[in-house]
Amino acid sequence: MKVPFMNLRALHEPINDDIQDAIKEVIDRCAFAGGPFVETFERQFAAFCQCKYSVGVGSGTEALWMALLALGVGAGDEVITVPNTFIATAEAISFCGATPVFVDIDEHSYTIDSGLIEGAITSRTRAIIPVHLFGQMADMDSIMAIAKKHGLFVVEDACQAHGAEYKQRAAGSIGDVGCFSFYPGKNLGAFGEAHNQHVYHIYSVRVPNRSKFMAILERGGVSCGIHYPFPVHTQKAYVGLGKVQGSFPVAEKCAREFVSLPMCPKLSVEQVEYVSHQVRGAL
Ligand SMILES: *Cc1c(COP(=O)(O)O)cnc(C)c1O
Repeated sequence: MKVPFMNLRALHEPINDDIQDAIKEVIDRCAFAGGPFVETFERQFAAFCQCKYSVGVGSGTEALWMALLALGVGAGDEVITVPNTFIATAEAISFCGATPVFVDIDEHSYTIDSGLIEGAITSRTRAIIPVHLFGQMADMDSIMAIAKKHGLFVVEDACQAHGAEYKQRAAGSIGDVGCFSFYPGKNLGAFGEAHNQHVYHIYSVRVPNRSKFMAILERGGVSCGIHYPFPVHTQKAYVGLGKVQGSFPVAEKCAREFVSLPMCPKLSVEQVEYVSHQVRGAL
């Protein structure tokens, strides 16, 4: 007999038609970013978690990171969590510029040992992240009492605990924020992960004398774009950061030299050849 660790195919096969219909509806309505389906999910998932609100973000890691940012956690701060978790819990703390401070787990529940938390609190501590490991919730009453006493936030890492309960209260509903993951292998998994293959959304080349180059191409009937003419640190909204011209020499050089050639799935081979010919002529 073979027993796979997990069998995602067996999970989605019985509901495959429903999934296909739902995906088709999303495509038909072009609801690719945000929109009614995400809003419905956010409403339903909030109700499932006994919460008033839920917000869809990119991943469980991002949820933890954004929760900490929203609570004002930043450089120099400390956040208490456990060493026995997926590394994303600690990464989210590091992404904020803060430092993870580890507290050991309780050998009975394998979640944070609440009796050890106060010994780890310093003047820099801002928050506690209990991890509801393997689907079992941490000792939330004690954790919330400690947090209240010391003025700390509590962010529940509920990435493995969709639907888990503590004294009939849902995972994610007890702390200031609860974070969930929909990685394919989680309790409620979604489809897919991507992260490194160039897809040429923009086909940009670098030329030394851009305005002259673009004028020649334009005369030949080839329209180009620039992505992007002004690096962000030179734009009005961010001059307050105090980064003068010359702070980022490579980005600034690229901003002067990048030219985006025509790029679209319907570009014909003849058009590609014509553009290449015009580019060579201009150079
Ligand atoms: C999976 C997991 C995360 C990260 O979730 P992603 O969606 O993969 O970013 C964070 N914490 C714990 C405990 C997890 O199991």
